[in-house]
Amino acid sequence: MKYQVLLYYKYVHIEEPAVFMEEHRAFCERIGVMGRIYVAHEGINGTVSGTVEQTQQYMKEMREDPRFSDLIFKVEPSDEHAFKKLKVKVKPEIVNLHLEDDVDPNQLTGKHLSPKEFYEAMQEEDVIILDARNTYEYDLGHFKNAIRPDVETFRDLPQWVRENLADRKDKKILTYCTGGIRCEKFSGFLLKEGFEDVSQLNGGIVTYGYDEEVKGKHWDGKLYVFDERISVPVNRTEEANVVGKCYYCDQPEERYVKCGNPDCNKHLLLCEDCEHEHVRSCSQECAEHPRNRYVKEQENKEEVQL
Ligand SMILES: [Zn+2]
Ligand SMILES: [Zn+2]
Repeated sequence: MKYQVLLYYKYVHIEEPAVFMEEHRAFCERIGVMGRIYVAHEGINGTVSGTVEQTQQYMKEMREDPRFSDLIFKVEPSDEHAFKKLKVKVKPEIVNLHLEDDVDPNQLTGKHLSPKEFYEAMQEEDVIILDARNTYEYDLGHFKNAIRPDVETFRDLPQWVRENLADRKDKKILTYCTGGIRCEKFSGFLLKEGFEDVSQLNGGIVTYGYDEEVKGKHWDGKLYVFDERISVPVNRTEEANVVGKCYYCDQPEERYVKCGNPDCNKHLLLCEDCEHEHVRSCSQECAEHPRNRYVKEQENKEEVQL
């Protein structure tokens, strides 16, 4: 494999995000990496891809900045670029939790557990394994026995916790997400809410999958990722099992599409037959939308054939 994908984040104060963003974009263009990088006063969050040389150069130069000298990169091998473009953006937060009373993970966050510690903690009795991701991520794959919060976006998670877990504040909570960044803030939020024993998976599911000892044990299905790959394997100990199911017919399915209604864009696991039958839509309303993308694509295909 000649390419690599880097995942990283750090909560560290960035004085002028807009200036930093411009400089960082120029830096990425000079090296030739592509990807998505968010910059905020509270820190940086990025996924970039490039050749092995390019990504090594990126890591080296990033660590020369004293703010990022201890930056941890999760490195995954890849056959090709995982991104088609480079996007460097300034955001109010590096993940959108939108708390009325924000949490600084440098001040308050849950215990960091290594993959092995997390694996062992999952075997304990009476623990709550809480997935800190969205439903469409959970539905493609998750830890065995993990709770699935019914949320479409991360910022809805605090409210869901208040409505569903308020009577379980004395339980041991194990929370996890893709690369660890969401849990840094989310676990701090849980502590602030009064949960007594909160732990997070250090480095997230990506690190867990590459850990030489646990090898992704106890993970069902695949991991949803936010780049061209869409999903990657995690569990390397047993036969890969499929937990994803087609939205309509319930057959095992790992293929994600976005609802054909351009105003909806809901993530749907859909088999090809159901995609065709329901014109790639989550509802009748979306199927009948005048700008339904699937309908348009079919029309274009017919024109080409004519
Ligand atoms: Zn189907
Ligand atoms: Zn829809």
